[in-house]
Amino acid sequence: MNGIILFGKRFVPYIPHAELEQDIDRLARRMNADFAGGEDIPVLLCVLNGSILFTGELMKRLEFDMELMTIKLSSYQGTSSTGSIREITDISGDVSGRRVIIVEDIVDTGNTILYLRNKLIEEGASDIRICTMLLKPEVYHQDLKLDYVAREIPDKFVLGFGLDFNELGRNLKELYILDE
Ligand code: 5GP
Repeated sequence: MNGIILFGKRFVPYIPHAELEQDIDRLARRMNADFAGGEDIPVLLCVLNGSILFTGELMKRLEFDMELMTIKLSSYQGTSSTGSIREITDISGDVSGRRVIIVEDIVDTGNTILYLRNKLIEEGASDIRICTMLLKPEVYHQDLKLDYVAREIPDKFVLGFGLDFNELGRNLKELYILDE
């Protein structure tokens, strides 16, 4: 089986790029239906670095006017969550009174999304929706509704399509999974 080795760990192909694109097509159709005809301009909040590719693919498919903002957070070290969130850079614009769609690469324990949701409430966002490319339902136990989930995956470390392992692998087009 073909795979790649990074920092001594082996990753094998898991989800082809074409399938990820189909997932995003489906998600974008739902979002377009939900946001069509709105009078305000919602904020698409890309959570850097992991969701950069997902946000780009999603944006190409969105048909309503939106403003892109970014925030850079970090919670993972190696292949597991540290539990504490570090804010590397703040939100790139003013969200008060705005509808915000958080765009995440992956929701695991949900600590990051909860942190961000609370921050957006404090900063006066008028409505908050959560959109994620991937969700690990076996691990996610927060009392917080995830509005748009492109794909559910098992509780295993994945890599590629924006997701890294110690900052490497983000450029892989398809998704790889840790071969244990
Ligand atoms: P949470 O706070 O939900 O536990 O974790 C969310 C963040 O952890 C994601 O934005 C991502 O940066 C990182 N993360 C969680 N699971 C994985 C994974 O399987 N692979 C990679 N590369 N990052 C992950």
